[in-house]
Amino acid sequence: MRIVLLGAPGAGKGTHCKRIADRYGVLHLSSGDILRRERAAGTELGRKAQGYMDAGALVPDELVGAVVAARLAEDEIRRRGCFLDGFPRTLVQARLFERLLAEAGLALDRVILMATDDVDRLIKRLTGRRVCGQCRAVCNLVYSPPRQPGRCDHCGGPLEQRGDDTEPTARERLRVYAEQTEPLVRFYEERGLLLRLDAAREGLELLSEVSLALGLS
Ligand SMILES: [Zn+2]
Repeated sequence: MRIVLLGAPGAGKGTHCKRIADRYGVLHLSSGDILRRERAAGTELGRKAQGYMDAGALVPDELVGAVVAARLAEDEIRRRGCFLDGFPRTLVQARLFERLLAEAGLALDRVILMATDDVDRLIKRLTGRRVCGQCRAVCNLVYSPPRQPGRCDHCGGPLEQRGDDTEPTARERLRVYAEQTEPLVRFYEERGLLLRLDAAREGLELLSEVSLALGLS
């Protein structure tokens, strides 16, 4: 079972899908994790990616796609299945990925979209995020407020707002999502792969809907 996750920043796809993945023993992988692992293993693809990262350059789509497709071909994924987060993000990447998977004799089983039109809610979520300056734990002033204002629940360290989580940056991230990633919704819909979930619903309801649609138990 190979599933791609789509959803606007702040829609909670990471949180929800991590819960589902944990419950059913499915792997939850981000393209960043996959690249880091490949680099640490010192494979040929990993070394190539490292070269771009060291130079402060973006790793080219073709290379990211090859690394991700190779990971998806591994026995562990065949056995456990995976949710893939963060790739593909653009139509170009989606087409490339489809070709690379086909070359490896693989295909995606589903694409889950955490859908929402509520931009205010997304902005609230994104700007409410705080990171602990000490242990890096993440909380949200709106959705998971700290017990003591300004202090981390885990270690008491100071909570900080990252530059990524200010309102102008949040709006820019949503704009980029709408421009680059939303076209993927139609792309996967045309292939009959899309499962659209309402991101505003409760965690448990989503959990049962996803497990039903994917035949998990
Ligand atoms: Zn902390």
